[in-house]
Amino acid sequence: MQRPALFDQLLATDVYDLAIIGGGATGLGVALDAATRGYKVVLLESYDFAKGTSSRATKLVHGGVRYLAQGNLSLVREALRERAVLLHNAPHIAQPLAFVMPSYKWWETTFYGIGLMLYDLMAGKSAIGSTQFLNKQQVLDRLPQVRSIGLLGGVQYWDGQFDDARLALKIARTAQQKGATVLNYCSVESLEHQNHKLSGLICKDAETGRVFNIKAKCVINATGVWVDGIRAMDANTSSGKIEPMVTPSQGVHLVVDRTFLSKDFAMLVPSTQDGRVLFAVPWLGKVILGTTDTPRTDLPIEPMAFAEEVDFILNESARYLSKAPSRADVRSVWVGLRPLVKPQKTTSGNTKGISREHTILISESGLVTVTGGKWTTYRVMAEDVLQQCLDSRLITKSDKLPMTADFPLVGAPRSNESYSPIPLTHKQGPHSYGTEQSLLSTLPGSALWLCEGLSEAMVRFAVRYEYARTVEDMLARRSRLLFLDAALALELSDKVAAILMSEKIHNPQLEVFKTLAQSYMLPTSR
Ligand SMILES: Cc1cc2nc3c(=O)[nH]c(=O)nc-3n(C[C@H](O)[C@H](O)[C@H](O)COP(=O)(O)OP(=O)(O)OC[C@H]3O[C@@H](n4cnc5c(N)ncnc54)[C@H](O)[C@@H]3O)c2cc1C
Repeated sequence: MQRPALFDQLLATDVYDLAIIGGGATGLGVALDAATRGYKVVLLESYDFAKGTSSRATKLVHGGVRYLAQGNLSLVREALRERAVLLHNAPHIAQPLAFVMPSYKWWETTFYGIGLMLYDLMAGKSAIGSTQFLNKQQVLDRLPQVRSIGLLGGVQYWDGQFDDARLALKIARTAQQKGATVLNYCSVESLEHQNHKLSGLICKDAETGRVFNIKAKCVINATGVWVDGIRAMDANTSSGKIEPMVTPSQGVHLVVDRTFLSKDFAMLVPSTQDGRVLFAVPWLGKVILGTTDTPRTDLPIEPMAFAEEVDFILNESARYLSKAPSRADVRSVWVGLRPLVKPQKTTSGNTKGISREHTILISESGLVTVTGGKWTTYRVMAEDVLQQCLDSRLITKSDKLPMTADFPLVGAPRSNESYSPIPLTHKQGPHSYGTEQSLLSTLPGSALWLCEGLSEAMVRFAVRYEYARTVEDMLARRSRLLFLDAALALELSDKVAAILMSEKIHNPQLEVFKTLAQSYMLPTSR
């Protein structure tokens, strides 16, 4: 993973089959699918892999109980199939989790229970557990911190959870192993056309300022909420103006200690006061509370929570938990922007009704834009993109068939290996590396712990194998400490910077990280 070698690799191909812009779930999924079919692939990411929306999900591998309620059955069925595929391909970072929906009204248990049984039925052979009706005591056994006054019972159902940023890294590395060139900190600055057809792009290495001219038969725009910016680059040089495709919507998460949800069960509140669902999910030794759905037109790479969103999550949690979390209990707050595909006719500024399905659009010049969807369906989105590229004759058919449906990602056990994963509800540690755990013990500092679950060797591993370039890369996405406990991440940042420098990273952007970490903490009073 030496960066100069990656740039040598970039220059070694004259014409790529596919040049992919964006290193989130969508772009990385396309890179992996295309590389496994033998295409020449390059992927370019402006910042770090998963720096955008793909590190800021609620961490659910799910069919979408909420989309079931909206009657979007095809979306639910597809996502349930993909849920099973992901749990199979990456058992070290995507696992089943039981969810409990507590009931305080007489009709809720039956109503939601029947809906969730339909969810099981739709999963068919991809089902991962059966829905179960619970009495009051059974709910309290699973969720000891739930409000017991007025509690009547509940329903338990199964979905999955995952580590989004680490999954992105696994996909990037698996694609690289299959021959793709994947580069972080290399942004696409402009698109190149010949005779009104897209012929390549210009990208720039953020570290050296060096500019590269890349030729490609097909350019994929997988830049999430930023797709319209790339489409505008295409339009400027070819066919004129564009209609925006994306309506971004912001979602906030708050992280609190496990004292608020001590057992390995998540809680789903089926109907908040604004008609949404709210999750409390045990994850890597903490609990994630969220989320919100707030339309947002500016597109910062680091969006901040609005005070009302924080209040909303705390107030809704207080309605269901016996001890209400306060601002002082929040260890980290992080925000993601959903790339929702704009409906043909927008009737209101409301985003919670907009489809989570993905859309693929091919411009006159041949720019393939893909956006929408969700993390859970990243793989099937990639298959659709490749199919559209083939149908539009942007690439020629490969003699290799799509194969990512049964394809272990880096760190996943092979079918003949025995492996018992540690649940993702538990704290992070070397176990999160799956079958690569043994590699850690070969690196200096494997017994030197910066904090529980984070060793010096893990920082070295991140540089040597996982493309880490900065303190933020390490503490936000290789380890998830910034997302779990921003104050602790800040405290450790000097030590992490020193290890990165000893790995020959000359500027690990320590001060930038310190400022960022402050913004993941909540001021306790407003
Ligand atoms: C609050 C929230 C909760 C969610 N929860 C879930 C969940 O629990 N489960 C689930 O399945 N899904 C969930 N999702 C949806 C899921 O996270 C997204 O659908 C997915 O991450 C989108 O990935 P993407 O690759 O399209 O976009 P992104 O991850 O944003 O990636 C786009 C990338 O393009 C890069 N880029 C932009 N411009 C350029 C350029 N010029 N050159 C190079 N790179 C560029 C950006 O830096 C960015 O990294 C959630 C989303 C949100 C917002």
